[in-house]
Amino acid sequence: MYETSVLIVGAGPTGLTLALDLARRGIRFRLLEAAARPFEGSRGKGIQPRTLEIFDDLGVIEALLAAGAPYPKFRTNFGGFSVRAGSVGSSRPPTENVPYPNLWMVPQSRTEAILRERLRALGGEVEFGKALATFTHSEQGVIATLASGETVRADFLVGCDGGRSTVRKALGLPLVGELIDDKPMVVADVEIEGLDRRDWHLWPFARGGMIGLCPLPGTALFQCMSQASTVAAGLEHAVHELTGHRVRSIAWSSTYQPAVRMVDRYRVGRVFLAGDAAHLHPPSGGQGLNTGVQDAYNLGWKLAHVVRGAPEALLDTYEAERLPIAAAVLGLSKRLYQTRSIKRGDATNQLALHYRTSSLSSGVTLGTLHPGDRMPDARLADGSRLFDQLRGPHATELVTPEEPRILIRPDGYIAHIGAAHCAEYAGEPTHHTSGALSQFTC
Ligand SMILES: Cc1cc2nc3c(=O)[nH]c(=O)nc-3n(C[C@H](O)[C@H](O)[C@H](O)COP(=O)(O)OP(=O)(O)OC[C@H]3O[C@@H](n4cnc5c(N)ncnc54)[C@H](O)[C@@H]3O)c2cc1C
Repeated sequence: MYETSVLIVGAGPTGLTLALDLARRGIRFRLLEAAARPFEGSRGKGIQPRTLEIFDDLGVIEALLAAGAPYPKFRTNFGGFSVRAGSVGSSRPPTENVPYPNLWMVPQSRTEAILRERLRALGGEVEFGKALATFTHSEQGVIATLASGETVRADFLVGCDGGRSTVRKALGLPLVGELIDDKPMVVADVEIEGLDRRDWHLWPFARGGMIGLCPLPGTALFQCMSQASTVAAGLEHAVHELTGHRVRSIAWSSTYQPAVRMVDRYRVGRVFLAGDAAHLHPPSGGQGLNTGVQDAYNLGWKLAHVVRGAPEALLDTYEAERLPIAAAVLGLSKRLYQTRSIKRGDATNQLALHYRTSSLSSGVTLGTLHPGDRMPDARLADGSRLFDQLRGPHATELVTPEEPRILIRPDGYIAHIGAAHCAEYAGEPTHHTSGALSQFTC
């Protein structure tokens, strides 16, 4: 029987992020993907500022920035005239504390391809066409059976297998929540004849329901989203009828029902859930992919520490830290969906999400910084950037002559502020750096 430390089920953005984080820590894992080939749709195209910071840490930021673009302005069409105003994105300049202040658009298939390329560079790979069928688990480990009949023994299993998660169902954990719209939404990647690619075109009052066409960077495609009843009967015809533009080709399409749902547990023994397997978001606010990536980023270093001998209690902090965040984010996405609000920025950029009440957070506050907060970037005394020092799998201790020390977890959150650090699980800091605390102003 094949043995591994961590069996990851599902190679969407969540599973890929976890695999990448484990690969750079030298932890053995397998990454199973039921689909025979990579996902091809644009689906989760909005990458939030906090996720960009994580992608910086994971070594994929250059590729992500090169593959994407800022969000375009809306061009809203009313019968014979149109108005160009507003955007879900912002165009703030970077600051010393926030290097990536704006929402960045990258088609999900491209984000996944970039994560796969980085994983390959680190010696990992996705096993396409390998579906988890079932598993048993005990205090000693997990025995998984694949659809092929192969069995795998693992110390831990992580279900990153999306909204219809096999792992979640096998654990008997219901996704509790509600549909927030009884009309299904069609989402498709389409090539359109003669439509200006500068703007996100909206027809809010098209006959039978709204339709939107958003240009996708790095492609000749638009992401089409529509609840118009005629779309289900034939996309080409409906797009032409509703917008006056012809569809040249359809690269990918799917239908879903906007809902907010989540589980009430992220861990059962040695089995974990992450990403859409644990929480389902409507597209409003662009939170689903981002929350999944951040689940994986929270879990990766903890699993690595426990595989290397840290107390298993460290893994309890995964659910304690991430479940309340999913609940809050779902509430926000629901409000944005129901009010049809395009207001974004600080509410959705995920920079202010924190773990202040976590058992891993201790010590005193320092100016605006609390234990459990995301550590902002800063310019250090030697002119370098703090994020350059944080990049990599280590914890970091920021030492200054006049101020208390700051111990920063491997995932960039503050474990402890104070003279003597008592955050026993944050991992032995391998980087000591000196800084100028007056710059932490956000
Ligand atoms: C129209 C639309 C727009 C969206 N816009 C945004 C946005 O702007 N920003 C944002 O953050 N999110 C957005 N989302 C949500 C985002 O797409 C999802 O949250 C994201 O894909 C979740 O990633 P995941 O890796 O958790 O799950 P998934 O992407 O669903 O990946 C799960 C993987 O597991 C595999 N799998 C399933 N069962 C098994 C099994 N038994 N064995 C092995 N593998 C298995 C699947 O094949 C799949 O590849 C949007 C979604 C939609 C529909």
